[in-house]
Amino acid sequence: MSSSGTVGTVGVVGAGTMGRGIAQLCAQKGFPVLLHDVSTEAAEKAARVIQDDLSSSATKGALTPEEAAQARSRVRPAAALEELASADIVIEAIFEDLAAKRELFARLEPLLKPRAILATNTSSLAVGAIAEGSPSPGRILGMHFFNPATMMRLIEVVRAPLTEEGAFRRAWAFALELGKTPVEAKDTPGFIVNRVVRPFYLQAQSVAGEGGTSFERIDNEVRDLGGLPMGPFKLMDLIGLDVNLAISRSIYQALKKPERLKPHFIQERLVEA
Ligand code: NAD
Repeated sequence: MSSSGTVGTVGVVGAGTMGRGIAQLCAQKGFPVLLHDVSTEAAEKAARVIQDDLSSSATKGALTPEEAAQARSRVRPAAALEELASADIVIEAIFEDLAAKRELFARLEPLLKPRAILATNTSSLAVGAIAEGSPSPGRILGMHFFNPATMMRLIEVVRAPLTEEGAFRRAWAFALELGKTPVEAKDTPGFIVNRVVRPFYLQAQSVAGEGGTSFERIDNEVRDLGGLPMGPFKLMDLIGLDVNLAISRSIYQALKKPERLKPHFIQERLVEA
């Protein structure tokens, strides 16, 4: 049990970009982690990526070899969802799809301890909609980590309409134990960051689409002259074009399709291809 008594074991569902990063972060901070994915291939890849990242942190001196080995040993693959029953918090990081998340939550809820928190890492779906139909919506909330989860300091902690104060506070304390800076976000489309940053991606795609300016040129100007760490196209690649498009679509739908936030055909064609 951690110092604040909030969380002992962490469950993570979805071992893709975010799930494996969240699992590694929690393990580095001393929490035992159970990591589950429907895809054996994704679970195996996650184990490899975590191992490589920890080894490289040890080589660079960011962790001692012992710390890296301990963190690695704390991440246990869970072949079946049922193995997450001992978790005090489960963080869901599966595809950005409302039906898939609802179905997963319905399967998870009867397995978990009554006080266990169920957090979604959704970027743009309504947390309240994911919790709809749940027998215990008070323990469902959003914990929106940023990519890469081991490095980015912000976590948006999202309070859905039926989230109980106690669960919210425990999630907040857990975010602090992970060394993060939690920020409270309302359950509005895209929360804070993804809503504010949407035009950054969309306008970059418009510039490329209308004038034929290359992705590289736009990225270079924004990065070197704008003083940002990377340009919009590189950032979309880091996030995953498919993930970014799902977020754009979900915010566009939720806000009743404003023209200014319409997903751009460039991204749609690239994802289809
Ligand atoms: P991803 O495609 O890299 O990984 C998703 C993983 O979930 C895959 O390995 C898939 O096999 C697994 N999965 C799908 N359905 C499952 C199920 N029912 N049970 C168990 N595993 C299942 O996606 P990602 O980029 O890691 O995004 C995951 C979530 O995190 C999404 O909700 C996304 O919006 C959010 N998010 C993404 C980023 C980012 O930069 N990529 C940042 C913050 C939040």
